[in-house]
Amino acid sequence: MISLGVIGECMLEFSQHDDIYQLGYGGDVFNTAVYATRLGLDVSFFTATGDDHYSRYLVGAWNNEGVNTNTVRIIPGGTPGLYIIQTDDTGERSFHYWRDTTPFKQWLKPGSYLDTLPEKLAQHQCVYFSGISLALLEDADRTRLLELLADYRIQGGLVAFDPNYRPRLWQNHTEATTWIDKAYGISNMAFPSYDDEALLRGETSHDKLIQNISTLGVLEIVLKNGAGEVMIFSQGDSGKVPTEPVHPVVDTTAAGDAFNGGYLSTRLKGAEAIASAKQGCRTAAQVIQHRGAIIPA
Ligand code: ADP
Repeated sequence: MISLGVIGECMLEFSQHDDIYQLGYGGDVFNTAVYATRLGLDVSFFTATGDDHYSRYLVGAWNNEGVNTNTVRIIPGGTPGLYIIQTDDTGERSFHYWRDTTPFKQWLKPGSYLDTLPEKLAQHQCVYFSGISLALLEDADRTRLLELLADYRIQGGLVAFDPNYRPRLWQNHTEATTWIDKAYGISNMAFPSYDDEALLRGETSHDKLIQNISTLGVLEIVLKNGAGEVMIFSQGDSGKVPTEPVHPVVDTTAAGDAFNGGYLSTRLKGAEAIASAKQGCRTAAQVIQHRGAIIPA
């Protein structure tokens, strides 16, 4: 079975249903992990969580989703990050986060977990991470992560990256571009979204955005654009893929994460980029017809 490692954070989620808040969980790379698992990859979650009741709840939930958790670092005394999805009278959703003390910030601190990380990463054909994963870490740990992934790539591993640019997670725009560019620089494959990338670069031309990422060394670029066509730039198999028509769109939360799960599961099994993007669109189309990041299996 083809194995994928995903690096990042999964938080507790409270979603509002009338006046009741329902407990769940979610996080960008974790959402991708779930869809890649459902589509037949063997997925390991490289993350950190605490040792309290709610951390155990999360690890149990990840296991129930079929995601391997023997790559999770347990931080003694830690408690998970949390977000609340609030829905206003018009149905508009807003996200509120409590993640300043998330255990993921401790994920790469020295210790036996870190010592064995290279060999654990090496057991996976592909490792996927995001700009959110990077933003949450301190500078020294960001450097450590990119060095680990650069080494992993030199040894033949495939590095996949979604910049998932969230301005409020970065101190300023320069910090974001600096680190996102470094991440592109060590990645084989990237899944930017047009809106994020346009905001990050102050550039509206699709071609120029792709050109910029290509100049940074990425060999396979998949530019998502909401309901618009997906643009693929890769050696040998470039083109445009129309998205699946969806009526009505119920909730676009995790559309990009689901796309990435669909794409990776197909691509890593040997399909070409265009066929993989079609599967990405199918997976995302399913997800946006339901509420929430993780739809029923
Ligand atoms: P992100 O969630 O990262 O911002 P996008 O909004 O670009 O990503 O959407 C990711 C993918 O989800 C798209 O490439 C497309 O396949 C699918 N998608 C998003 N919105 C729609 C829509 N309105 N109709 C059909 N597919 C959509």
